[in-house]
Order: sequence, then C-alpha cells, then structure tokens
Amino acid sequence: MLLTKAFRKMFIVPDFQVFTQKINEIYDSALQQDGGQVADYIPQLAKFSPHLWGASLCTIDGQRHSVGDTKVPFCLQSCIKPLEYAIAVHELGGEHVHRFVGKEPSGFRFNKLSLSEEDKPHNPMVNAGAIVISSLIKPKSNKAERFDYVMEFLKRAAGAEYVGFSNATFQSERETGDRNYALGYYLKEKKCFPENADMIAALDFYFQLCSIEMTCESGSVMAATLANGGICPITGDRVLSTEAVRNTLSLMHSCGMYDFSGQFAFHVGLPAKSGVSGAVLLVVPNVMGMMCWSPSLDRIGNSVRGIHFCQELVSHFNFHHYDNLRHFTKKHDPRRSLDDEPNKSVVNLMFAAYSGDISALRRFALSTLDMEQRDYDSRTALHIAASEGHVDAVIFLTEECKVNPFIKDRWGNTPLDDARQFGHHVIATILQQYQHVYTDAESSGNKEEQKTTMDSLKSIN
Ligand code: GLU
Repeated sequence: MLLTKAFRKMFIVPDFQVFTQKINEIYDSALQQDGGQVADYIPQLAKFSPHLWGASLCTIDGQRHSVGDTKVPFCLQSCIKPLEYAIAVHELGGEHVHRFVGKEPSGFRFNKLSLSEEDKPHNPMVNAGAIVISSLIKPKSNKAERFDYVMEFLKRAAGAEYVGFSNATFQSERETGDRNYALGYYLKEKKCFPENADMIAALDFYFQLCSIEMTCESGSVMAATLANGGICPITGDRVLSTEAVRNTLSLMHSCGMYDFSGQFAFHVGLPAKSGVSGAVLLVVPNVMGMMCWSPSLDRIGNSVRGIHFCQELVSHFNFHHYDNLRHFTKKHDPRRSLDDEPNKSVVNLMFAAYSGDISALRRFALSTLDMEQRDYDSRTALHIAASEGHVDAVIFLTEECKVNPFIKDRWGNTPLDDARQFGHHVIATILQQYQHVYTDAESSGNKEEQKTTMDSLKSIN
C-alpha cells in the first residue's frame, strides 16, 4: 500500500524531492546565522558547540528528511512540556488538568514566580504549570514507574526511535534549580497541587523530564505524531487522544516560544515549543512535524537558527495558520491537492452532468479537467447528461468540450443510444449531428471546424 501510494504521488507531500531541496536551502540560510549564546547555567549544556545545527522532518505519511547534526542527542528541556501536558490530558482529560493550570499566556518569563488571578499557573508551557502537571501524572505509582510511564509514551510517539536520559543533566538541574524550588514552595503555599501531592517529588520528576534526550530524527517523529492527531505516522500506533493533541497544539501556538510567543504566532503561525538546549519542536498540523536543534540562543532563550528556520519556512511555504490556501499565489503549497484525486474529480463531474449544472461543468472545464473521463461503468459525463435529458449540458459537453460521442459504456451504449432509450428526442438529434461533425473534424484533423458547425446545432434547442 505504501509503495502504491508513493508511485501514485498520494503522499501528503507528493514532490518530496523538490520540497526537501528547499528545506536544505533554508537550512543553509539558517547556518549563516551565527549570533547568540549557548546556555551555560549547567556544564551539560555549556559543553555543546554553537556550530551544531540539525533539522529533521517527518510527514504524516512517514516521509523523512534530515539535514545536519540530526543524530546527536540533546536534552529536551522545555520541549518536554507540551508532551507532559499531552500525556496528562490523554490520561485525565482536559477538564481535570485545567482545574490545576490555566490556558493563558503569562506575559512573564517562563520561570517567573507568578500565578494567575485564580492562583493557578498561567499555562502548561511555563515552569510553574509543568511542575504542577508533573504531580498529576500517575500520582499513585512510585517514582520509577512514573518515569517509565512517560518514557514509554515518548518512545511510542517517536516510533521507537532514540529516547534517552542524561543523569548528569538531571543532577545539575536539581543542584542549580533554586528558582524551581522557590516556585515549588510558592505553588504549595497557594495550594496549586492536588491533595496529598508531594511537592519535592513533583519537582524531581520535572527535573527528570527536562533531562530526557532525543535527536532531531527521533524528535521529528514525535512532532509528526502531534501533526497526525496523536497517531505515530511510522508505526500507526495511536499514542495520544485527539483531545490531548488539539489542546497541546493550541497552547504551543499561544505560549510555546517564551516571550516571543505572540510574535511567533503572528509571523510563523504554527504551534512550536523551544527549550534552553536550543531545540525547537515545530508542528505543521496535518502535514508534518519537525525538530530543529542548534544550541546558540537569542536573548529571549530561543535557538537563533531554529527561529530563523521557522520564519524562512513559512515565508516560502503557505504553512502559516492564516495563509489563504486558495488565493495566495506567492507562496508554495507542497501538499497534495485533494482536487487532484482522480476518483473525486470523476464523481464531481458525473454529479454536475446528472444535475445539469452548467456552471459546475464550466468550472471543471476551465480548471483543465479531462471532461472525457469515464466512471467505473465506462460512462462519460455526456452519457449521463444525455440520459437525464439535460440539453444545455449536452450542448456544452459537445460544443465546448468536444467530448467524443462514440465512447461506449460497459453495456456497449453511446450517449446517443442513451438519449434514444430515455426518449430525449431533441438530444438524440443533437448527438446524431454532432457525431457527423465529430467524425468530419477527426478525419480532417480540424477541431475548430467542429465548433463552427456546432453553432448551427444551437438553433435546434
Ligand atoms: N530545566 C530548565 C528549567 O526548568 C528548563 C528551561 C527551559 O528549557 O526552558 O529552568
């Protein structure tokens, strides 16, 4: 099935080679961006070279492309937050989760000691929200089971590709995490955790989750699972509920890029989440997922190359959520067009003929649709219009579209036979004359002649 789809160009990005060539160009242009600084609050992040740069993509049909340092493991850091939230919603439902955490951008830095007016963390993409959510996941299990539970989810979302853990990062995060401890106590004071929750255990779990490693390659599959409504495109495994995925994408869209979230939503218009390791998880819903990674960060904390890549991607392709897909011609649409599906176009054509809908027929003809195509009974639109007695449609199909009147359906009938069988005498006369015109034009090789002679047919109507 996969091969048939590939050969018939039925994948979501049919011209994958052309598409990936452009991706490589965008990658190269981001490579020129050498500003920013690598995070250095812990040695495990500071050790990375600012020159590292990788980008991988995976479409919802499992088409893969990688360029640059895409096999090097890095910690997800804040990129875990959308997944942590998605798992919680998958397990507990959105309503329950949002009893503990809001849905609003905070307008403050990601680790600010601040809560909403209802004394809840503003959203799951800031530290306060992620710390509370880590207390919601499998609260009755022990610490090891809880960690394994999340790892298992991530592995399934990444199609069994690389998901690791950096114990050194975890230890460093714990040692240097004063702000997160302060947040923990503040959250505890304001009763933000569920009853009986162990705040220190929640913090520990949060530090562990930030220390989970992936590569661009495996991360792109995880992003593609989000793009694909929760089903991993390379295994077909339903990992997350559709509710969990939709909620997650909505919050990534409004809150995923630190204090650049509003601008990112405006300029790029796609759900994304970045982390202090230089990772950017990007989702083009219903098309593909991407993981970009380059450790140099701008002043806000987003990967310099990652941001540049996302902006360039959307300035070339019409992936911005509010790009008009029908009329905005300056941008490229690499997606398979649904109108190109052969079965769909035959059905539409036949229905237009069946109902005598001239304007629809005209639209199809103008869009260079093959007006002579046949359905599964080998019937053309002309057969249908003749059977139904639609004179105008018959004239349009013959005069304007020059449909071959001699095509026989599976019972051996031409459109003329149909007109006679159903007692449409005017149409039978038109078709009889048209058969002559058509034969003459065919033999002289002059299609224009058909048109002039056909003008006389109009008078019959
Ligand atoms: N471990 C970091 C913290 O909690 C995550 C930072 C980030 O990637 O935003 O401070």
